[in-house]
Amino acid sequence: MNAPWATTPTDRGVAMVAGAAPESYWLDRPERPAPRARHTGSTAEDLVIVGGGFTGLWAAVHAAEENPDRSIVLLEGDRIAEGATGRNGGFCAASLTHGLSNGLDRYADELPELLRMGTETLDAICATADRYGIDADIERTGELDIANFDWQVDDLRELSDEGRRLSQPMEYLDAHAVASRVT
Ligand SMILES: Cc1cc2nc3c(=O)[nH]c(=O)nc-3n(C[C@H](O)[C@H](O)[C@H](O)COP(=O)(O)OP(=O)(O)OC[C@H]3O[C@@H](n4cnc5c(N)ncnc54)[C@H](O)[C@@H]3O)c2cc1C
Repeated sequence: MNAPWATTPTDRGVAMVAGAAPESYWLDRPERPAPRARHTGSTAEDLVIVGGGFTGLWAAVHAAEENPDRSIVLLEGDRIAEGATGRNGGFCAASLTHGLSNGLDRYADELPELLRMGTETLDAICATADRYGIDADIERTGELDIANFDWQVDDLRELSDEGRRLSQPMEYLDAHAVASRVT
């Protein structure tokens, strides 16, 4: 028997994506910078960073801010953000554990520190975008987890209790309160 949430593609669904280009939403736009010229030969730098995704780019920004005199080269084998960075869903969450529930299950002892670091990182991302005038459409909306089945309601209520115990600004909303936020 299929799981209750399993779906099969409908004709309407298939038609809706028939004309979609197999490109990343974020990169398939005219203002995407042109690729840089291929680097050849050798170079001597204070710091070489391999990979032009979020990790490499963030490391480069920090290294340059830490020491503006440092020479830095960032090597990307494809194009900037062509990997996971250019293909993600655009959700910029503070959680370093992919959600509080996962963090409680796997990293309970370290969780207070992980939560602190996650919030600090999200703050730093927003502040960096501000500082460099990066128009990333950032909206700090918070997150809403919704119970789709009755058995999930108690789990969410317990999770919000745990969150508050860890000083997280979490709130349990009943069905009416959720509906008023999404309609
Ligand atoms: C479908 C999808 C959805 C996601 N959604 C989200 C989300 O909503 N929110 C979120 O926070 N995270 C999300 N993620 C995760 C997030 O996108 C990644 O964690 C993040 O982009 C990783 O960045 P990175 O720089 O470490 O790796 P990458 O973005 O993969 O960058 C690594 C780069 O290194 C280059 N490279 C590798 N080897 C070499 C080499 N030898 N020489 C030169 N270059 C090299 C690659 O070409 C690549 O460009 C998602 C990921 C995927 C795939």
